[in-house]
This record gives sequence, C-alpha cells and structure tokens, in this order.
Amino acid sequence: MPLLRSLAALSLIVAACASGGGEPNQAPSEGSPSRAVTVVTNAAVYTVEPNEPWAEAFAFDESGVIVALGTRDEVLTAAGADPTVIDAGGNMILPGFQDPHVHVPEAGINQTLCFMAGGPSLNSYETQARACAGQQPEADWVRAVGPWLFDLTWDEELPVDVLDRAVPDRPLLIIDRLGAAVLTNTLGLQAAGLSSHDQDPQGGVLQRDPSTGRFTGLLLENAQHLVRNAAALDDDVVYQGLLSSLDELARNGVTSVTDVGGYWGQSHPAAWQRAADEATLTVRAANALYLYPDLDLNEQLDEFERRFSDNPNSLLRYNTAKIYMDGILDLGTATLLEPYDAPISADYPSGFPYFESAELRTYIAELHAIGYRVAVHSIGDAATREALDAIEAIDDTAAGIAARRHRITHAYLVDEADVPRFAQLGVVADFQVSPDAIDPDYLDFMTEFIGDRAYDMIPTAQLLDSGASVSLSTDWDAGPLSPLGTIEQSLTRSTNAVPDLETAIALTTIDAAYAIGHDDTTGSIKVGKFADFVILDQNLFEVGPDQIGEISVLATYLGGEAVFIAPGFKP
Ligand SMILES: [Zn+2]
Repeated sequence: MPLLRSLAALSLIVAACASGGGEPNQAPSEGSPSRAVTVVTNAAVYTVEPNEPWAEAFAFDESGVIVALGTRDEVLTAAGADPTVIDAGGNMILPGFQDPHVHVPEAGINQTLCFMAGGPSLNSYETQARACAGQQPEADWVRAVGPWLFDLTWDEELPVDVLDRAVPDRPLLIIDRLGAAVLTNTLGLQAAGLSSHDQDPQGGVLQRDPSTGRFTGLLLENAQHLVRNAAALDDDVVYQGLLSSLDELARNGVTSVTDVGGYWGQSHPAAWQRAADEATLTVRAANALYLYPDLDLNEQLDEFERRFSDNPNSLLRYNTAKIYMDGILDLGTATLLEPYDAPISADYPSGFPYFESAELRTYIAELHAIGYRVAVHSIGDAATREALDAIEAIDDTAAGIAARRHRITHAYLVDEADVPRFAQLGVVADFQVSPDAIDPDYLDFMTEFIGDRAYDMIPTAQLLDSGASVSLSTDWDAGPLSPLGTIEQSLTRSTNAVPDLETAIALTTIDAAYAIGHDDTTGSIKVGKFADFVILDQNLFEVGPDQIGEISVLATYLGGEAVFIAPGFKP
C-alpha cells in the first residue's frame, strides 16, 4: 500500500548543532554550521524517523553531517546561497543499509578462488581438484572454494586419499562457503602440523575413519582453522579481496557493517587497517575479532585488549568479539536441547559446543569488562540458552549489560522459555533470511533431522513480538548480499514474516545501526546524523513486497561522499 507523503506534515529543521567542519566523516559535534553545503533534492526521502518519516530534501555540510531536512523550498532556503545540488531524479532515498553480520574480506577472496561445483561423488572432487591445481601452477597451496556443504560420507576410499591422487605435490585447501568445514590432502595436514595421533582441538572435529583412526581430510568447525591458518594468503591478496568486497557493499547500498570474520590469525585486521590508512574504506566498520576456542584464555584476552578500538570518529573500529557457540544444523554440529538426527557422528547426538560453559562465561565477562560487545553465533536452542546464561552472568548491573547490546546472531532455534530473555537482558536478536534458509522445501528437508521444530526456525516475528531488539543481516557470502532482497524475504516468507514494510526497512537500517552500536550518528536521515544514504530506482512503498529485491541501487553516499554511482545515473 503506497504511503502518501503529507507535505503539511513536513517540517523544516535546521541544525542547531551542526558539525564544525574538520575531517570528513568526523562524528557530529557542537559548533557553527560549515559553509559548503550540499542539498539533496527532487526525492522521496524515507527518513525512518517515526516523527517525520518523509521529506522532499535534505542538506549536509562539508563534514558530511545533515544540517537541514524538509521540503525542497525549506531546505534550499536554509542552505543559503549557491549550494551544491544533488538531483535525485525523483527517486526514493533511504538511509544507507547496515549489515551487522557480513564476511567482508572472505567474500572478496572467495570470488578469486578456484570454484568447485557440488558433486555427489568423491570422483567429481578428484577431477575438479586436479583442474584447480592446473589453474594455479605457481601457487604454494592449491586453494579452492567447494560446494555449499561437503558430502560427509565415503564408500571405498577416504577423501584424503582421493585428494592426494588429485594433488600429489602441493598442499590443498578446499573451503565450504558456509564456513563450517575444509577438506585437505596429506600435505595440507602436514603443513598444518597435524598427525594422526592428534586430539580434536577444542570446538572442532578432525574427522577419522572409525576402523583405522586415520584422518579423512575433513576438518569441521574450529578444527578447520589449523589448515586455514597454514594456508593463509599474502597480506596483499587479503587486501585486494577486501577492496573487491567494499565495491560490492557500495553497489548494494551498504554503508555500515560488522565484519564478523575477524580471523586475526589470517591478517584480516591488517587489511582493514590498510584500507583506513589509504582512504579506500567506503563503509563504517565496527568489526569483530574471532575468539579461538583452542588458544590460551589469558593470552587471547591480552590480544583482545591490545586490539580493542572504539573511536566514534574513526570509520574503523574493533569493538566486537565473534564467539561461536555451536556449528550448523546441516552438519549436526548445532547444539540442541533435545537429541536430533545428527549426521556428523554418533559421538555428538545433540551437536557439540565450541566452548565449555565455565570458560565461555569467563570469556564473555572479561570481554565485556574490556569494552567488547559480543556477537554470538548460535544456531541451536541449547546454544542460545547457554549464550543468554553467560550474558546474564556478567558481573555488571542489568543496565550495564543491556547498554552494551550484545547480540545473538542466526538464532535458528529459540526455546519458548528463552524468547522473553532477549528483551530482559537487552540482547539483540540478529537474523538472516536468505532464500535458501527460509525455502519451504528446505524446512521440509530439515524436519528429517529436527522434526517439526524446523517450521519454527529463524523466529523473527516471535522475537519482535516479545519486545526484543531485532536486526536483519545478510551473512554474505554464506548468503546473498542484498539488503533489498532481505527486506523482500523477511516480508514474504511463509512463517515468522515481519509484519510490515516500515518494520522491515527499520530492521536493515536504524535497528541494525542500534545493533552495531552507532544509531546515534547513522541509521536514519536526521539532522545531526551522517549523510549516509542510498538512492533507489523505485519506491519500496509503490511496488509489491515480492518485487522489492528487484529494485536497483542508483547511488550510495557515505558521509555525503558518493561511494557508488550506477552507470548512466547522473545525480
Ligand atoms: Zn557468518
């Protein structure tokens, strides 16, 4: 249903506290308005501010902060003589999208790796791994991106033997795009320092042949990082991957992220820092560092303390800790309250946790004390309960815990008893609704493992109803990078749909900014906030919900600077 903009309801607000110039993208601060003003006009501006949802125009100063909002005439009058004008061509403007869960350098890197299609047999892995080796004759490792999930079973030969035949002379790394497992050959196992007597690392599984105890070459969950670290790419390759992903984010209208990869064993933070130093950063990034379950607790906390940064004037911060509670349902590594039919191993009838409870509580309490917000990967209902328990046990006031906005991401299954605890503890529920995850056929398929609980997965509406803070993210490149697609999926899914378009937009803008922790400076179009916005080729309120994903981003602005302009669009 199209919303009619009521011009009478529009009011002019001139910045009472506009920014005082200085470096671009400095946080809004007190001072006199800057002189050089840019006016954005000829637009249907949906501000996401409930008191003033629509405007015709706005203006921002040279530090990229919005100083006026209202009708065209009002904003032009407020802007004074001879402002720069951006003509939005009558199109819709939204605040820039905010993505609290995205794998930024990894997505760019994965696009450059040799791609292996999913195959039903190890034979197809063999052929494809050999082809990948042929495509990178000079590389120290043969690196490939595998199918979405590896086939975990084998008949006559172990995967490692098949892969040794395919790539006999170099270590091989095949990663799955869900980030849950890797496959490697014998040279890869050796390069990672693994021998067949090694125990499983905390939070991971080295798959073995049950009859001989030999490694199969499949390393699940946290165990995969032993090989990934050994196969770490050159710093420059990681940086190029980051730049390619930043382009893709801008193209999709994303102006703020939390990069939840954060593999500081693989120079991801160094790549981000280089982008900040070389002024190639085109998003606000409040990034996460990965918490390794198998590293020494105190040494790792020292590392986190050393790396913490939370300067609101900087485009780049490291203020979030990514903590995996469990794995994924499809592998049987998600932890559930009740046993389920888990394909990974009879040893883990209800999945397996990354951390022991006591250790997890210590980590979360200590990270909170340093200043970190934790972003907890949780799929199963047992994992979610464990995370809520650990957050509740933090030694701080209830207000102090809630103010940090710790979040649980994925939250596929939440037990009824735990639903109200999100609002009580101030924990944000961050969901992804990628087409694969909400597909009715997939839900039917998952009933084989978890019964009818499959139909309650990703309970977005239920958490919204409970009064919890909710956000939507993409989990790119495990899911597609499309905030507009996310809005469409959230509205049109068969269960737990978001109630209306206004809510869906808020979940990808202001509410996601709340989750990231900077809704005071971005996430809506409001005087005093950064001019982070997108111009879209259609008005979301004038198309059907099932057409929203087809809308194109014409331009993306970060702090008033264009970071993407679509070919042919002339603002
Ligand atoms: Zn993820």
